Amino acid sequence: MSERVPILIVDDLPQNILALEAVIADMGVEIMTARSGNDALRLSLKVDFALILLDVQMPGMNGFEVARLIRSNPKTSHFPIIFITAGMKDLLEQIAGYETGAVDYLMKPFEPVILRSKVRVFRELYRQRKLIEEFYYTLEQIIEERTAELKEANETISRLAATDELTELSNRRSFNNCLAAAMSAAIRHNYPLSMIMVDLDHFKVVNDTFGHGVGDKVLKGFADLLREVIRAEDVAARWGGEEFIVILPHTARDAAAALAERIRVAFEKHSGCVTPILLSASFGVVERQEGDNPDTLIRRADDALYRAKHEGRNRVVTG
Ligand SMILES: [Mg+2]
Repeated sequence: MSERVPILIVDDLPQNILALEAVIADMGVEIMTARSGNDALRLSLKVDFALILLDVQMPGMNGFEVARLIRSNPKTSHFPIIFITAGMKDLLEQIAGYETGAVDYLMKPFEPVILRSKVRVFRELYRQRKLIEEFYYTLEQIIEERTAELKEANETISRLAATDELTELSNRRSFNNCLAAAMSAAIRHNYPLSMIMVDLDHFKVVNDTFGHGVGDKVLKGFADLLREVIRAEDVAARWGGEEFIVILPHTARDAAAALAERIRVAFEKHSGCVTPILLSASFGVVERQEGDNPDTLIRRADDALYRAKHEGRNRVVTG
């Protein structure tokens, strides 16, 4: 509460300003002064005043005109004004014209006690207004922060819900959603779409021989390989334990098979870094045909993969 409250004294005569100042200087106020209506208007745009003590009789713009201009500006229209005047002429009529905002008056010569009590009222109003402003500002900030946290949490939740925890590829549910969308887009715009289904060969042996830690590393390594070779519009997912699936829009079967072959070779090479034995993977590759739906496409990819396994593994078979 130690912050000083800004008050503006407007009077064309310096001795009048000094007299007012002397009465209220010790009230915890910061006094600014203006000798003309123009100076008063200029200052009113710069400072959020708690109160303006405004001389009515001034050369040039009189106090009523100054008050009207202050009231007409949205930035200053809330400033309380106390008119200071030697005569009652026009005063009550003028004051009655102000429907909103605090307007008061003081007759010259004024009683110091009365001036002090009026200033005290407006000083406290100002302090309360500042407290409320601060409160709302803080409240807005809290709401903003919480909203941002909530949004982030929701994004994390939906990312986690769509992601396989170990490999950070899409999970099966998320993949199914992508597949349905990708297939209808391919049908609508009539472009090729292929699918690769992969199964790591003899993966159980890896887990049994080297432990699940190594098994997990192998799965992660394979996921990294997939991420490296696919494009932004492709979707790769972990389909099951050691099974993966990739959807490739704008890709015909031969191109998809070539990509699968690159992955197969890379994985064979890579596996030697993780385990003492060379690992391999089998691939089934299909392209969407007339009449395919997500289920039939997956089934055909699965059939091709089964054949790859059956024909000796570590190979790409198209269907
Ligand atoms: Mg005067």
